[in-house]
Amino acid sequence: MAFFTKGIAKLVTEAISKRKTPFITFVLGGPGSGKGTQCQKIAEVFNFEHICAGDLLREEMSSNSQNGAMIRSIIMEGRIVPSEITVNLLKKQIHSSGNNKVLIDGFPRNEENRIAFERIVGVEPDLVLYFYCPEEEIVERILKRNQGRIDDNIDTINKRLESFKKLSLPVIDHYTAEGKVYKINAVGSVDEVFQRIRPVFTSLRYATIMSA
Ligand code: UDP
Ligand code: MG
Repeated sequence: MAFFTKGIAKLVTEAISKRKTPFITFVLGGPGSGKGTQCQKIAEVFNFEHICAGDLLREEMSSNSQNGAMIRSIIMEGRIVPSEITVNLLKKQIHSSGNNKVLIDGFPRNEENRIAFERIVGVEPDLVLYFYCPEEEIVERILKRNQGRIDDNIDTINKRLESFKKLSLPVIDHYTAEGKVYKINAVGSVDEVFQRIRPVFTSLRYATIMSA
C-alpha cells in the first residue's frame, strides 16, 4: 500500500497541507480542568501549534497597551474580554505560526466569542475537546498550582466557574449539536488523561489520509 512505502507521517503532512485553512481544534473546559497541560502534550506528540487565549491576554495586559488595564480588571473579575481583542490576538498568532494544525486553548468562552471568531478569522473548528472535571477538584487544583496568576484566588475562581457554566457551556452545546465535541474525563494523572486523548488524534491521522 502506498501509505507504507511513503510513510504515514509524510502522507498526513501532505494531506493536511492541501487544506486551504488550518485544522483547528478548540480545547474547552472549566478553569483548572487541565487544558493547558494537555495541550502542551498534544502539541509535542502530534505536532500542533498550541495557542492559549488566556496567555495572549495576559501578555497584552502586561504590555502597557491601551487595553491593558481593562483586560486586567476583566480577568480579576472572571469575566470575558471583548471578542474583538481576543480574536485579533488569536488571528495574528494563527497566521504567524506557520503550522496548519492548531490547538486553541480556552476559547471561545461565550457565543459572542464563537461568532466573532467565525466572522473575523473566517474558519470553523474541525474538532472541539471538552474536558470535564468536578468543581471541588477544580478549586483544589487551582489553589495548589501557584503560578502567580492574579485570578487564582477563591473569589475569582468562583466567578470563573460561574462564567463557565453560564456562558461557555452553551458554546459546547452548539458544537455538540454539530457533532464536533469529544468529551474527556479530566480526572486523573496527567498521563492517564493523555491516554484518553491520544486515540482521538491517532484516529484523526487515518481519517485525514482517507479524506485526502
Ligand atoms: N479570558 C477571556 N477570553 C478568552 C480567554 C481568557 O476573557 O478567550 C480571560 C477570562 O477572564 C479568564 C482568564 O482570561 O477567566 C484566564 O483564562 P485562562 O484560559 O488562562 O484560564 P484557565 O481556564 O486556563 O484557568
Ligand atoms: Mg489554562
